Amino acid sequence: MTVCNEQINLEKLKKAEQIILELQAELKNYIAAGSGPFLAAIYDENDHLIAKTANSVVSENCSHNHAEMNAIKAAEKVLNTYDLSAHNLKLYVTAEPCIMCLGGIMWSGIKEVYYGVSSKRVEEITGFDEGFKPDWLNEFARRGIKVYGEIATEAGEKVLHEYVAAGRKVYKPER
Ligand SMILES: [Zn+2]
Repeated sequence: MTVCNEQINLEKLKKAEQIILELQAELKNYIAAGSGPFLAAIYDENDHLIAKTANSVVSENCSHNHAEMNAIKAAEKVLNTYDLSAHNLKLYVTAEPCIMCLGGIMWSGIKEVYYGVSSKRVEEITGFDEGFKPDWLNEFARRGIKVYGEIATEAGEKVLHEYVAAGRKVYKPER
């Protein structure tokens, strides 16, 4: 069931469902090309695409190259700024941001976040570690960042199941 941290806006939710379904469909091609199983896209307030990037931790040997971090970095390069807040940007991502990406989103000035599969389900299906995230929807609300989550989860969970079934890498540091 969809979660959100403002009075629910069905128009925003409908648009997010469409975009996240498209991202889930495209994600299969990114995975086939060697990306990790997460894809993020950043749109401006006029719904122009600013950046679209997949997880590239393994392919680029960089532990912080999550889809969201890559998208934020790409958007900041395109817009030539470290503070995206004036651009009223929206981040769409195929799964709930991990603890690192929550920090990355906060420091970037992104205004709205829409995600697919919950961290709980990502962990259950794949074994990826999403980190600890106490009450982040309310914390983001306090910071003026709107969040809608658990959107089009059936399609998203299917992609993750396929990723695992194909024997692809579920990376994490040894402990
Ligand atoms: Zn992340």
